[in-house]
Amino acid sequence: MTEQIERAERVVAAPRPLGEARVWPRTFADRLTDPLPGTRDMLRVMRQGGFRPRGQALADLGRLPVNRSAVPLARTGRTAVTWAGHASFVLRVGDLTVLTDPVWSRRILGTPARVTPVGVAWDALPPVDAVLISHNHYDHMDWPTLRRLPRDTVLLVPAGLGRWFRRRGFTRVTDLDWWECVELEGVRFDFVPAHHWSRRGLADTCRSLWGGWVVTEPGGHRLYFAGDTGYGPWFTEIGRRYPGVDLALLPIGAYEPRWFLRAVHTDPDEAVRACLDLGARRMVPMHWGTFLLSREPVMEPLHRVRAAWERAGRPRADLWDLAVGDSRVLDHERAPLDPAPEPPAPPSPPPTAAPPSPTP
Ligand code: ZN
Ligand code: ZN
Repeated sequence: MTEQIERAERVVAAPRPLGEARVWPRTFADRLTDPLPGTRDMLRVMRQGGFRPRGQALADLGRLPVNRSAVPLARTGRTAVTWAGHASFVLRVGDLTVLTDPVWSRRILGTPARVTPVGVAWDALPPVDAVLISHNHYDHMDWPTLRRLPRDTVLLVPAGLGRWFRRRGFTRVTDLDWWECVELEGVRFDFVPAHHWSRRGLADTCRSLWGGWVVTEPGGHRLYFAGDTGYGPWFTEIGRRYPGVDLALLPIGAYEPRWFLRAVHTDPDEAVRACLDLGARRMVPMHWGTFLLSREPVMEPLHRVRAAWERAGRPRADLWDLAVGDSRVLDHERAPLDPAPEPPAPPSPPPTAAPPSPTP
């Protein structure tokens, strides 16, 4: 890991040209934080009850928060987010409308149908200027949704995925390595590391990269979309390189059984710790309440993230625990960050970095 950080350090982050087609290594397996589980681990999970919540764990399905009267925000030039469910957001940044990991389908491969409706009707979306993809898992990269986009939509995707999109007719695709960026109408998009992996077919494990996106708009607002990730040292490093994150979109679901999923999915406590490591002011929880991918009770991620946020001493107003369909606007004034909270007692490792001062 340290070696990866050192190697990444040498990369000069001048924007890459949009639409550049490049040659990538055959595998990104050297970017894994932890080795992937083997067949024995899979069998053990199956013996222990698999990856689905059952019985009592499903009792609160009807309580999942959904805003049924949601309409996406009009184009106002203000930075805003709308949660469509899972890792799918509609972002307003600069003059752009940007989708993250858009999944508008009711069903995706290998998973029961979504348990909450899509937060924003596809037809109600404004024209989409760009799409950010975090990695190629089916709950993040959904062809039935993507094929609805005009083929000249700007797609920003992880290294090694460009070809997949170009083959399907998209003409403005850019795939990036970690710490690389592009600019679109003054908005900067940096692809950053995550503790995760990739696979879509039978023989393509880690053939394309995975990661998150830091979005910096001309007014200086900065958003971080984590994609899928476990907890680890990348958050501190991302916060160091991109100080003053106003809003961190972090995954809080799909974490049980812990022994199996810890390496690739943060639980709510780890997501809050990641937010502290980043030095981000506000957090939007995601990757829960939509597709049931693991065994935790369906409302537990929300209860746990609220408790962890409170324990961390963060202002309640800075936890944007959106209902599916909710929108929220980021204020234009940039207040200084609160002083670094004391690290919460026993859990280790404690946050290592104090939140940096916001950039002017
Ligand atoms: Zn994933
Ligand atoms: Zn996922």
